[in-house]
Amino acid sequence: MVQMVQSKKKPANTLRIELHSHSTQSDGLHTPSQLAQKMRESGVVGWALTDHDTTSGCAEAQKASQELGLVFIPGIEISAQEGRTIHILGLGVDPNLLTDYGVARRQDRVRRMELMAERAVELGLLEEGVQGGLLKHESPGRPHLARALVDAGVVSSVAEAFEQYLKPGGKLYIESPWPSVSSAISTIKSANGVSVLAHPGKDRVEEGELAKWVEQGLDGVEVMHPSHTESEIARYRRMADLLGILKSASTDYHGTPKGDSRPGLDFPVSMWTPLAERLGVVF
Ligand code: AMP
Ligand code: ZN
Ligand code: FE
Ligand code: FE
Repeated sequence: MVQMVQSKKKPANTLRIELHSHSTQSDGLHTPSQLAQKMRESGVVGWALTDHDTTSGCAEAQKASQELGLVFIPGIEISAQEGRTIHILGLGVDPNLLTDYGVARRQDRVRRMELMAERAVELGLLEEGVQGGLLKHESPGRPHLARALVDAGVVSSVAEAFEQYLKPGGKLYIESPWPSVSSAISTIKSANGVSVLAHPGKDRVEEGELAKWVEQGLDGVEVMHPSHTESEIARYRRMADLLGILKSASTDYHGTPKGDSRPGLDFPVSMWTPLAERLGVVF
């Protein structure tokens, strides 16, 4: 695991940016307004909200960011299926053009959560009636079920819930009807966004696969992510340069229960400039 640079003093030729974050509209712990505040406190000057399969938090995040003087980039993290789950970030999307998309994915997520919760009750892990709370989330996901398992004392941490029950093949895992990567890329393009492959190291993306997605229209790759080792960072940086696509970096901020983590990282200006140009962001 690589510790992102988060010192108080900002190194030269960097800008503190966060291009991948989650709010309570998906599986993050802070509301969009609270997130904007967190960004401000961390010295972040520009950020993107990229909730899983929904842009429903973008209007609130935009308003709060404006009040705090922060540059806000509306975004989404689209779940796709290609042998395993692949996440594609849509940056600079028009949130309104993805409203119907979000509604359709919410239906998929509600159905999946119903099935997972039903199984948890059948196995005696959770009490009957737990579904109500789980289904009220805007974008119900496995982390919500993981937290319910922690609260019920079944496991001691979210990580353990995934390891024991929620990872692919786990007793509570239900295959998701996500679109293909190519379809996710098209969805982002149709909403005027820039598509970036999230955490390729986590999902073991190989060079041939990345090249195929670039042919299908993928604009960039997230080279720096907390799950990436130094060698993965170097590997994906090299692949991006060979393929001539954009490079991004993030902390994939979800917030922590104790509130002790900080969003944002010191983004090299040389890496930020081509992205900013494509996003039409100036500051
Ligand atoms: P979902 O979209 O409902 O399948 O949930 C995906 C989310 O689950 C990701 O954003 C991760 O934050 C979280 N997640 C996936 N695997 C793990 C894990 N092993 N431990 C903790 N969180 C995980
Ligand atoms: Zn998440
Ligand atoms: Fe992700
Ligand atoms: Fe994420």
